[in-house]
Amino acid sequence: MASIATSWFQIHQRFAPPFLHCIYMALVVASCFMVSTANANQSALFRHNPVPGGIAMVSIAKTDTTMPTVHWRKRAIAVIDAGQNWQAIVGIGLAEKPGTYELKVTRSDNNAEKIKFTVSDHQYEEQRITIKNKRKVNPAPMDMDRINKETARVREVKAYRYKKLLAENFQWPLKGIVSSPFGLKRFFNDQPRRPHGGIDIAAETGTPIYAPATGLVVETGDYFFNGNCIFLEHGLGLQTFYAHLSKIHVKPGDKVEAGQLIGEVGATGRVTGPHLHWSVGLNGTWVDPTLLVGEQ
Ligand SMILES: [Zn+2]
Repeated sequence: MASIATSWFQIHQRFAPPFLHCIYMALVVASCFMVSTANANQSALFRHNPVPGGIAMVSIAKTDTTMPTVHWRKRAIAVIDAGQNWQAIVGIGLAEKPGTYELKVTRSDNNAEKIKFTVSDHQYEEQRITIKNKRKVNPAPMDMDRINKETARVREVKAYRYKKLLAENFQWPLKGIVSSPFGLKRFFNDQPRRPHGGIDIAAETGTPIYAPATGLVVETGDYFFNGNCIFLEHGLGLQTFYAHLSKIHVKPGDKVEAGQLIGEVGATGRVTGPHLHWSVGLNGTWVDPTLLVGEQ
């Protein structure tokens, strides 16, 4: 941003009368100030709650002007400029145990250092669901080929990173009753399954779903468990996921603005009724969406 402002200044300086120079200079200074305000807002996007399924905001000292790269469990971690220091935004998987962990921070001089952060305990509630279509609980061998392909594709999608944060703030994709909160320990027909990696919002089929923030459409498809679904990337590996839709109104490669219609609620895939399953991902793991949008 600063370099854009500088080149803009240089271009205009050549053609402008001298008395305008001080105005240009004031604009350049103002735009630099706007950059630092935007950085402060970026860290306000996330709420620090370092529990399994939560987000750890970890401060990293600013030793030079080049943003360091940060890794945890060999995955690239989002880093933002928080003014006084850098801030790593770490998505903590629901399966992580409480304890102390280390981020690997690599500076521009290639010096690596370790920065510790702590994950606290959090107990999520249990939920027992009866699914009538038994094939959606224990898929037939012929379904496994499709499921394995979809799992591989989801892994690719979750590894995708857009180089800068596009999201400025987050809003709920639709308002409705939360029928199943994030993190529930789930049992389908009494069989334990993975904990709930998103929020279920009950709504009629056809209810519009809006992009919660600016982003890019990375993938859309009709998946065995998820039904019609959409993956959005909001930058630096901050992603959102929408499942069980009746209609999809975007396609991979589209850029979407906050509040843009992206799809409609449905009951496709493994469901007991129409609802939106909404997930938020960070560094390839699902985190509690309320850490970005708050309660409704
Ligand atoms: Zn769900």
